Parts: sequence; structure tokens; C-alpha cells
Amino acid sequence: MSATATPPDTPSPGPSLLAAAAGGPLLLRQLFDADTGTFTYLLADVSSRQGVLIDAVFERHDRDLSLIRELGIDLVASIDTHVHADHVTGSWLMREATGCAIGLAAAAGAENVTLPLRHGDRVVVGGRALEVRATPGHTDGCLTFVLDDRTMAFTGDALLVRGCGRCDFQQGNAHTLWTSITEQILTLPDACQLWPGHDYTGRGATSVAEEKAFNARLGGSATERDFVGHMEAMQLPHPRRLAEALPGNLRSGKPREAVARPSWAPLERSYAGLPELPPSWVAAHRASLTLLDVRSAEEVNGPDGRVPGSVAIPLAELAARLEELPRDRAVVVVCHSGSRSALATQQLLQAGLPRVANLRGGLSRWAAEGYPLHTSAEDHPEDHHAEHTA
Ligand code: FE
Repeated sequence: MSATATPPDTPSPGPSLLAAAAGGPLLLRQLFDADTGTFTYLLADVSSRQGVLIDAVFERHDRDLSLIRELGIDLVASIDTHVHADHVTGSWLMREATGCAIGLAAAAGAENVTLPLRHGDRVVVGGRALEVRATPGHTDGCLTFVLDDRTMAFTGDALLVRGCGRCDFQQGNAHTLWTSITEQILTLPDACQLWPGHDYTGRGATSVAEEKAFNARLGGSATERDFVGHMEAMQLPHPRRLAEALPGNLRSGKPREAVARPSWAPLERSYAGLPELPPSWVAAHRASLTLLDVRSAEEVNGPDGRVPGSVAIPLAELAARLEELPRDRAVVVVCHSGSRSALATQQLLQAGLPRVANLRGGLSRWAAEGYPLHTSAEDHPEDHHAEHTA
């Protein structure tokens, strides 16, 4: 599988992936979409920095991409356990952003898949791999991804915590699901951790031993007949987003129309949730922006210097001095590190300013990347009042 280049505006210096992985050889993050109860998983091999995203959600793309970039992960693939009926996959957006492969069961016949997956395939992630197991029954294309050492498996909707996916549409079949679960999942070691595709009541993970004992539909002494009887008696409403999700997923999440991105700047949302811009873009577009410096007057006029032409309003005074900001220009907020300016960015967005972003990494990164700062000896700012000389 081809590796992708690190994006040019990756935050730097990045944190140690080893530290993010708590010192272990693998990083696993479980992400959640509360709107649909969907779990997305980011799994990365620490030594190679390669990673894979499992069951990404379209609407959570910015969040997932921020985490991947902040951790400096080289995403090799965005893979789905099945064609979802309740949400649209984020795979196509992720491929657009990172160049990663799009993986899905070949049996699904979806467009834009670059890594069609079949039972027995391996999805290689650096020095590790996920074994692909066909586990149909919820849909006919369901896959379970089993880590090479069988310590964890991503079961999609084949097996959920104390439950399983429905079998009443999308070529579902309770007999088939019984066979998949009992032959492909519950035959894994008892200690194998199982990571489900959904949960609606706050249960994040389970294990083979637990589901063998306690799964409400197939655990304990339940037989295939008990299981099928249970599944066929269930009367569930169809997922509310079915009409949109199925065709969207059969395009791997490629929108019918171009995705509307904010037009004024190549904004990237941090994992903390704020719009950010890199110093390179801000420097190139400075003349058309208001640069708002929210440091104290002492800092602005001190030896660190300031960006020539920036407007200085200390963070503590910002709420009372909003009218000093020109409304016809986009605002990029700066401070020493990007921390106080993050708070100011939030305040300005809440105050209804339409075009606001934080300078990623603050003035320390601005200076480190070689962009100019002037000290008050060179530039003559008015200490306490907004000014604009650009
Ligand atoms: Fe499903």
C-alpha cells in the first residue's frame, strides 16, 4: 500500500507518537459520533507512524483529520466494515485530504474504492496488519478486521456490545450472522478485545469472553434457533438517514456536489475544534487581513516585537472593544503561543464575526518560520488603541 506524504502544514514540532500511544507499540483511539452512535477508530503503528482509520463519519472528517495531522500519522487507508445505512462514510474526504486508500468489501461493489477487500486479505499498516474476515449477516458485505496478534478486532455491526446488528434489510440474514459470529469472531482468544461499530448507551468495548457469556442474543446457552427467533421477532424502524446514507456510501462518501469549503482561506480545524491558519498563508495574505494581537501592551511593545500593521487589543479588553475591528476584513488572531488567541478566536466567533481564524503556533512559530516581527523601536504602535497601518 502506498504511503502518503506528510501534509505541508502539519503542526510542528509534533508530539511524540510513542507518548500519545502511552509508550506502547500501537496507538488506538476510539472516536464517537453522537448523532448516529457510530464509533470511528484510528489505529497506528508507532514505529512507522503509519495508520488506518476504520469507519470514518463524513460529518466528523475535520475532527479526524486534525487528530491524524496533530499526531503526525501517515494514513495509509480509510476502511469501512460495511456499507452503513445510518451515516455516510468519511473515506472519500479522507482520501482527498491525505491520499490514503479507500477500503471496503469488494462484494459491496461501491464506487471509488481503491482497496477492495476480501476474506483473508491483510491491510498492512507499517510493520503490523489487520486480517480481513468476512462476517456477513447484518449486510452481505460485512467485514471484521482482526489485528495480526489477535489481541483486538473491529467487528463493525456484526457483533456489538451485548448485541449485534439488525438482519432485516441490506441482504441481512440471521442464520448467516450466527455463523459469522460463532465461527469468525467468538473463535478468537477469550481475551481478544472487541471494538464495535456502534453503541447507543455508552458502552465502548467488550471482549470475546464477555460476549460468549453475556451477549443477550447469542451468549450463554443460546442456540442458532434461539438467535434467529430473537432476530426475526425484532421490529425496528428503518434508520432515519437510510435514503441518503446508502447511495452516499456506494460512492464511498463522495458528495454529489463539490463540498462547500470556506472560501476566504484554507481553514483547518484543530482537534480542539478551532479554525486555524498556518503562518505561511497568513504572511502571504497579510495585506487583506486584520491581524489582531491579543497580548498585553507590555508584550506587544517588548523585545518579542509584533507583526507590523497588526491591531493590538489585549485579550481582557477584547469583549468591550469589538467595534474597533473592521467588519469588512477577515480577522486572524495572534498571541505568543496561540493559546490566548484561541480563546479570542472563540469569543469573536461567538460574537458573530463571520471570518475569524487563529494563527497556528502563535508568534513564536511565526518567528521560527522566518516571518518578520518589529520591535517598538522600529515600529511605533499606539500602545492601547487599535491601529491599522497595513
Ligand atoms: Fe450497520
